[in-house]
Amino acid sequence: AQVSTAEFVKSSKKTEDCPADGLPEFALVGRSNVGKSSLLNSLVRRKRLALTSKKPGKTQCINHFRINDSWYLVDLPGYGYAAAPQEVRIDWDGFTKDYFLKRESLVSVFLLIDASIPAKQIDLEYASWLGQNQIPMTLVFTKCDKRKKKKNGGKRPEENVEDFQNLINEFFKSTPPWIMTSSVTNQGRDEILLHMAQLRNY
Ligand code: GDP
Repeated sequence: AQVSTAEFVKSSKKTEDCPADGLPEFALVGRSNVGKSSLLNSLVRRKRLALTSKKPGKTQCINHFRINDSWYLVDLPGYGYAAAPQEVRIDWDGFTKDYFLKRESLVSVFLLIDASIPAKQIDLEYASWLGQNQIPMTLVFTKCDKRKKKKNGGKRPEENVEDFQNLINEFFKSTPPWIMTSSVTNQGRDEILLHMAQLRNY
């Protein structure tokens, strides 16, 4: 399930403008600074592929990367960026939610959650929205290499992960699949690619 080729295909402003070839796709989404670009680069073993989608003007787009000529990784705008004006945030919500609801070739959303900090309200809202709309979702916990010192009152990544799962359980019939990752140690990279391969073969 390794990545041999990864190419940037296009940035789309609307769901209707996304590639129409029907290849299966997986969307990565998460709070700004969650580690989405780092994870994307780690998945494709490149240092800078995700920079394409960080260029000004592309960050508010749906960015398609074709992998092994047979499926897509999709980079969606980060949400909850504190400096973004309110209207911009609402607009992002509008088009990402439209994409989730309408994109037929979307196999699963990979929702990135920072495991090095306690659950954030906006992440819980995002997860519950996906659950309530029955959008297939995989939880990807990022930054699992970060160890908080107990004496500082911080929780370990494993504890934050467990808290998050307990908080969202009421929105799901069954606990969504979840993977613990680190772009520093590459923990979880093979697991994500294997999970994506399994989902494509259903
Ligand atoms: P994005 O805004 O979601 O694309 O996040 P970035 O990939 O740009 O990462 C945001 C910050 O978190 C950067 O300072 C990264 O170096 C750091 N970071 C990302 N992934 C990891 C990780 O797995 N472990 C650690 N310790 N830091 C990370």
